[in-house]
Amino acid sequence: MPMVQLVYSSQPTKQMASRDLMEILDVARERNQDARITGLLCYAGSHFLQVLEGERKQVCETFYRIADDERHSDVTIIDYNYPPERLFTDWTMGYAGLGEIRRELIRRHAPDGEVASLLPDAGSVMAFVRDVAHELSHGFLSPD
Ligand code: FAD
Repeated sequence: MPMVQLVYSSQPTKQMASRDLMEILDVARERNQDARITGLLCYAGSHFLQVLEGERKQVCETFYRIADDERHSDVTIIDYNYPPERLFTDWTMGYAGLGEIRRELIRRHAPDGEVASLLPDAGSVMAFVRDVAHELSHGFLSPD
């Protein structure tokens, strides 16, 4: 079964408190571990950005479940590709939240500092996600 990577954006249907995010992550990490899915969830206030990677069937099933979730809307696939290997080997679901993503890091990719400005271009989204992953794995951001 081929390995796929799916990237989507969405908009929270309400302002997310840390407790709401932790509830999402607790379930996500448990379910993703069972499905051998890895990835990253970024919460940037106005938007979620999430990368899911794993076997195609598992990624699609998980994505359909996520897309149905009433805690967010405007779920939009940004990229779907077949990477040679996983980008997020260590995380059943890494997490970077609003307060942790440095303004400078966002501005490096979106000069106006708005994550929404990245969304039309899949390449910019992936470059941003890679930078966030790099910072997470080097301990510059807290993984949860
Ligand atoms: P159930 O637990 O039966 O929930 C059904 C519906 O009830 C949900 O779709 C949601 O609308 C609502 N709901 C459930 N729990 C709550 C709650 N605590 N507060 C308010 N409403 C609730 N799941 C994964 O498996 N992997 C992921 O990587 C993942 N990432 C997510 C990212 C985001 C941004 C969001 C919003 C959700 C994510 N989820 C993820 C959760 C996913 O949407 C499902 O809720 C979860 O997988 C359980 O599926 P289920 O069919 O058993 O849903």
